[in-house]
Amino acid sequence: MPPFRADLHCHSTCSDGSLSPYDLVQEAFSAGLQGLSITDHDTIAAYTLAAEAAQQNQVLLIPGVEFSATLDDSSVHLLGYSFRLASPSIQELCRRHAIRREERNREILEKLSRLGMPLTMEEVRSASEITGSIGRPHIALAMVQKKYVPNIQEAFKRFIGDRRPAFAKGSPVSAEETIAAIREANGLAIIAHPHLIQDPSILNKLLELPFDGIECYYARFSTESNAPWIDIASKRGWLITGGSDFHGSVKPTIPLGASWIGEEVFQRLYEHHLKNNVS
Ligand code: AMP
Ligand code: ZN
Ligand code: FE
Ligand code: FE
Repeated sequence: MPPFRADLHCHSTCSDGSLSPYDLVQEAFSAGLQGLSITDHDTIAAYTLAAEAAQQNQVLLIPGVEFSATLDDSSVHLLGYSFRLASPSIQELCRRHAIRREERNREILEKLSRLGMPLTMEEVRSASEITGSIGRPHIALAMVQKKYVPNIQEAFKRFIGDRRPAFAKGSPVSAEETIAAIREANGLAIIAHPHLIQDPSILNKLLELPFDGIECYYARFSTESNAPWIDIASKRGWLITGGSDFHGSVKPTIPLGASWIGEEVFQRLYEHHLKNNVS
């Protein structure tokens, strides 16, 4: 019997992934994963769409979300798991983010236009199969199609990456209020991919906040790169989570299951979910 593996970080077409929630669950089954959490950016729409596929494929699915938050003017990603799906606090936070994204996307397109790269929202929508919210990867793809840049990476590096000339973030949601909303929904609040945080002072401030865990296993990072985060989690008694951050064709080099967690941690999250969502 192969070991139990669960991928706790991936994106569907409800945000900026290229597979529908239904296809994502089937992909998990094909990849030999027994557990999954779909962690779309700032939306929980995928859970309902994927639940039936999970039952059919015998993949255990837990509610997840990846919130964009602000700490000291820097952008950080926070994961929430096993929260009450019907919780008004989570739904309200998703609604705030939907408004923030609309404003921010408009601002990005205005800046691109001023830089001589006009792009309409319609052009962005038709560049990808978007069923949910528009994210920067969708804008990047439309820029590639318009031949403004040769590839998605270049779009981020030169124009729409954090603090680049066409970047806009919209009205911020703080890390503290994000954690509070996850906790209000009786969910677990987790620091996403600490590997990617460049500024040590942001990392230190983040580590002072009341999290339940930290994403120690991430994407294709090596055992050595994961070790410091496992050490931090062990010393604090935090949950050690992990996942691939699979986006499908948007990030073709990272397959579903590139990082995963074992049965023990998954069961804790799964039981937490059952207590919250099954009466
Ligand atoms: P958004 O949530 O709309 O601000 O977009 C964030 C998404 O953009 C994340 O899923 C990242 O994977 C992607 N992203 C951020 N920086 C880069 C980059 N330099 N190259 C490619 N994708 C990126
Ligand atoms: Zn993404
Ligand atoms: Fe992220
Ligand atoms: Fe992600």
